Amino acid sequence: MSISLSKRGNEIVQAEIRVMTIECEKLGGINLAQGICDIGVPLPVAHAAKTAIDRGFNSYTRYDGLTELRHAIARKMREYNKITVDPETEVTVSAGSTGAFYCACLALLDEGDEVILFEPYYGYHLNTLLAVGAVPSYVMMRAPEWTFTPDDLEMAVTPRTKGIMVCTPSNPCGKVFDKAELKWIADFAVKHDIFVFTDEIYEYFIYDGRSHISPASLPKIADRTITISGYSKTYSITGWRIGYSIARKQWADMIGYINDLVYVCAPAPLQLGVAAGIKKLETSFYKGICTEFATKRDLICTALDKAGLKPSVPQGAYYVLADVTSLPGKTSKENAMYLLHETGVASVPGSAFFHGSDGENFVRFCFAKTNAELTEACRRIKRLRR
Ligand code: PLP
Repeated sequence: MSISLSKRGNEIVQAEIRVMTIECEKLGGINLAQGICDIGVPLPVAHAAKTAIDRGFNSYTRYDGLTELRHAIARKMREYNKITVDPETEVTVSAGSTGAFYCACLALLDEGDEVILFEPYYGYHLNTLLAVGAVPSYVMMRAPEWTFTPDDLEMAVTPRTKGIMVCTPSNPCGKVFDKAELKWIADFAVKHDIFVFTDEIYEYFIYDGRSHISPASLPKIADRTITISGYSKTYSITGWRIGYSIARKQWADMIGYINDLVYVCAPAPLQLGVAAGIKKLETSFYKGICTEFATKRDLICTALDKAGLKPSVPQGAYYVLADVTSLPGKTSKENAMYLLHETGVASVPGSAFFHGSDGENFVRFCFAKTNAELTEACRRIKRLRR
């Protein structure tokens, strides 16, 4: 047989997160590898979705989402993200933020276009770029605060660069980009005339009094920024697949057509559930999850410190990178497997988030777990100290 996978099929590897999850299930361990949020779905969200199904609201919606949801998102963008958005032409509801990013890449990038990724990066960003034939280049951030300089940006740019990807707060390192850093990125994007893609799925998980700043709220880059976000994490509905992109009409039209082509629309009754959540949940809900996750962060960082696995304390999101150079094993994969076998706690090898060898020093833990599960995981991690 001479038929084969596509070239892109040969480039894309199964996410390490899934591999570790399978290993963890085999051992019946505690899975701190995958970013699944075990906190309950807020009542107004669940109730509105159930009611929508019961009332027969189960057909296709407009390709870019239901009016209720687009308008709710536009209002939330204005109030929380400080971005003015036309709900009729600039919001595309998609199959999760993953779907939203894929559609944006298909609409805006050609084969061979380069996109700068901050490293450590989220593997789906890399693989989505590879899937559309784009070429990643990297800006390495420096642990433990994950800093970079304007010079680092200049080193990564070439005449083929068409975009830069920001993830704030970041998965996997929890970095929250501050105003000064976003200004550097804005100046850089204008200077080189490139898109800014920004994934803000963890926008409500921000710790220690920091604020979330959306790159598109900087007027200088408002027209060239594609903001990606969604409700998987905020409402603990990772399986519902409700996300969105925000872009100027000149980009949003094509992003919407691609969304129609690939997904037709996001799940109809679940769009109504999320719309109800955005309308009904008060600021106290979002502050509450923030406080709850800050406590979980402190719990796991203390345990990691005690075990001698120095954590890079995250400023946001719900992951922590821990230094595993003191563990037996030559690679982060071996370190993660050692940890899984010794403690029954699954993590993701750092190599999943770096293109070079720096990832071998880290593993990533997700702390979006119930208190009981996280406490047990921490108890086991602490025991590692021999
Ligand atoms: N973006 C980032 C940075 C993530 O960490 C994740 C999930 O782990 C996603 C997007 C996935 O979001 P969604 O469920 O909306 O596709």
